[in-house]
Amino acid sequence: MNETTQENAVQPESAAQAGKTYLARAYAAQSPTSKLAPFTVPRREPRASDVQIDILYCGVCHSDLHQVRNEWQNAMPTVYPCVPGHEIVGRVVKTGSAVKKFKAGDLAAVGCMVDSCRTCASCRAGEEQYCDSFPTLTYNGADKHVGGVTYGGYSESVVVDEAFVLRVSDKLDLAGAAPLLCAGITTYSPLRHWKVGKGQKVGIVGLGGLGHMGVKFASAFGAEVVLFTTSPNKIEDARRLGAHEVVVSKNAAEMKKHELSFHFILDTVSAQHDLNAYLGLLKRDGTLTMVGAPEKPLPIDIFGLLPKRRQIAGSSIGGTRETQEMLDFCAERNITSDVEVIRAEQINEAYERLLKSDVKYRFVIDMASLR
Ligand code: NAP
Ligand code: ZN
Ligand code: ZN
Repeated sequence: MNETTQENAVQPESAAQAGKTYLARAYAAQSPTSKLAPFTVPRREPRASDVQIDILYCGVCHSDLHQVRNEWQNAMPTVYPCVPGHEIVGRVVKTGSAVKKFKAGDLAAVGCMVDSCRTCASCRAGEEQYCDSFPTLTYNGADKHVGGVTYGGYSESVVVDEAFVLRVSDKLDLAGAAPLLCAGITTYSPLRHWKVGKGQKVGIVGLGGLGHMGVKFASAFGAEVVLFTTSPNKIEDARRLGAHEVVVSKNAAEMKKHELSFHFILDTVSAQHDLNAYLGLLKRDGTLTMVGAPEKPLPIDIFGLLPKRRQIAGSSIGGTRETQEMLDFCAERNITSDVEVIRAEQINEAYERLLKSDVKYRFVIDMASLR
C-alpha cells in the first residue's frame, strides 16, 4: 500500500461485517494509464438500513475520467483498482429489516454520496455534500463496512444505506434519468441557490453532460439563457435544449457584445480555459459559479472582480433533500438527459470521445451488457 492508498482506504468496522459480502461484476481501472476492464468487487450483504440495488443504467461523468486518470491527485488521490460511476438508476432486490422507504421491485437511484457524518450542521440541513467530515463518496471513498474504498456504479449491483437512496419516477425514461443523479443535481443546485429565474440573464459555459442540463434547468426556471460553447456544431442543439442565444466563445467580437450583461454564469468546463473572459460579462454584483473541476488551477485577474463587486464561487453536487426535489421536479416536467446508451465494453472509447467534447450529451452504460 502506498501513501495515497492509505489516505482513502480504511479497515472494516469489524471482521464479522467484512465477512458478509457477495461478489458483483464491475468495470475497473487498475492504474492511471490502464484501460477500464472487467473486474469483480465485494458488496456487503444488506444490513438493517441497507438497500441492495440491481443497477440498470449508470451515467458516465467527466469526473469518472478525472478520477480514473488520477487528475485530481492533490485534492482526491485515486486508489486502485477504481470502479467509477455515480449516476445510478436500478431496481431494489433486497432490503434490510429497518428499511422504510423501499421494497423489492421499486425503482431506486444513487448519486455521488453513499454516507456522511449525519451530525454536523451541513448534514442536519440536508446538505451532506458539504459535510464537515467530507461525505463518503460513491467511489474512491473510505468504505466503512467492507474496508478499502467504495466501488461505484459501473457494476451490476450496489448496496447503499437507504438515507442515501433516492426515489425515481417510473414515468421517466430510465437511461435518461441516470445522469440526473450528478449532471442534473450539480446544475440544479447552484441555479436554485443563486435564485435564477424570470428577468435574469444567465450564461451556461460548455455544452457537455452538466452544461446541457444547466441549459434545460435555467430555461425551465424562466431565465434568459445564453450558452457559451467552443463547438460551433452544437449551436442548433443548444437552441433545441432551451438556449435563447448561443455564443462561440472563441469569437472575441461575439463575447464583447455581452459585456456587463449577465446576472449569473455557471461554468461547467472540464479543462483549462480563461475565466477572465467571463468575469467581464457579469453586471455589477454578478456571480460566476464554477462547477467544472479542471485538473490545474485557473488564473483570476482580480481587476475583473473589483470594479463591479463581482463574485466568483463554487458549488458541489447537491444534498439528498435537494436531489429528491430535483428528481420530483424532473418527473413533473418530464426532464431527462439526452443520452447515448453504450455497452460496458465501449467505456474506453466513450472516454476518448468525452475528451474531444464529442458526446450528445451524456454516455450511459446499459448494465444489462455486464450480466
Ligand atoms: P463533459 O460532458 O466532458 O462536458 C464538458 C464541456 O466543457 C465540453 O462538452 C465542452 O463543451 C467544454 N470544454 C471541454 N474542453 C474545453 C476547453 N479546453 N475549453 C473550453 N471548453 C471546453 O463533462 P461533464 O461531465 O459535464 O463535467 C464537466 C466538469 O464538471 C468536469 O470537470 C467534472 O469533473 C465536473 N463536475 C463537477 C461536479 C461538482 O460537484 N462541482 C459534479 C460533476 C462534474 P463545448 O463543446 O460546448 O465547448
Ligand atoms: Zn459526476
Ligand atoms: Zn456531516
